[in-house]
Amino acid sequence: MTDTEASLSAPKNPPFNLTVLGTGLLSTALVLLTLYLLKRWDADIDPMGWYVMPFIPVGAILVGVGAGCGYGIGAYFSGIKVKWRMLTVVLILQTAAYFASHYIEYHDFAQTHPAWAARGFVAYFDAMTRSLEFHIGHNRPGAPTSPSDILKLGVWNYLLRGAELLGFLVGGVFIPLVLSKKPYCETCQVYQRQKEFLVLTLGIQPEVTKKKSTPPLPPPPESLPLNTAAPTQPPTDTGLEITHRLLELAAAGDVTNFQTLVAEHKPRTKKAKKATERQGLQLRYCPICKAGELVVLRYTGQGQALKTATVETLPVDANWVVGMVG
Ligand SMILES: [Zn+2]
Repeated sequence: MTDTEASLSAPKNPPFNLTVLGTGLLSTALVLLTLYLLKRWDADIDPMGWYVMPFIPVGAILVGVGAGCGYGIGAYFSGIKVKWRMLTVVLILQTAAYFASHYIEYHDFAQTHPAWAARGFVAYFDAMTRSLEFHIGHNRPGAPTSPSDILKLGVWNYLLRGAELLGFLVGGVFIPLVLSKKPYCETCQVYQRQKEFLVLTLGIQPEVTKKKSTPPLPPPPESLPLNTAAPTQPPTDTGLEITHRLLELAAAGDVTNFQTLVAEHKPRTKKAKKATERQGLQLRYCPICKAGELVVLRYTGQGQALKTATVETLPVDANWVVGMVG
């Protein structure tokens, strides 16, 4: 078999490998060990059972994120693209880990309660689930708990168990899911790097120094279809215009003038990031083959209300990427 045949028959982008499995199981084991030690130290400490408002299993979600982060870390460093097949395997392993943690709890309990050792894990899990109590209301520390503050749901506690398992699973796939959105080079099977050059407001750029900026560059060539319908020449110092000029320089493979223009307007980034609507220019490239693209991103809002949209994508030459990132 020739090398070409070997590479053709080799599985491309396997859904899992030993590194991903190893780091995933390691993070899961470490988190479950921590929970186990906490519970041995104080039986009332149960992060998995922390709920807010009152039935959102925040504790289980956070524990799940910690347990599943190893799968994401392993996939990132071994260049495995996260796809649905991997997420499915993670969900199965996390489900197994969830029940394993309860089994360990049962095993410990059975050591000191021989009657439960005879009844088995399923009976123990059922009894534990049905006896779950919810403490609601706000008691003063040390004050006896009023019976009206304790919620006993009996068999309905299985809904809470379900929510707990669901939280643990959602947390478990959270980091792999975030990684699945990251740009990826299919050729080299590696995650792409990102470099943000600058962020500008869409209109006239706010001044950051007293010194007047450089004179405007000549208008774009007439051959370009953009702006031809505009009755008057648009201002040359708007974010849209500067971004347009940067894209032209990158398309022409001009490293020096691109860097000069970025250096000139980069100080405006800090001020522009406070604007309601702004535009960023980002380079995404493969660290191996240097294939890359320039991406114009439109940001709207701030904080949790932040929305990001891709306005334009321009594939750039690998030599230009080398000139930009070394
Ligand atoms: Zn590549």
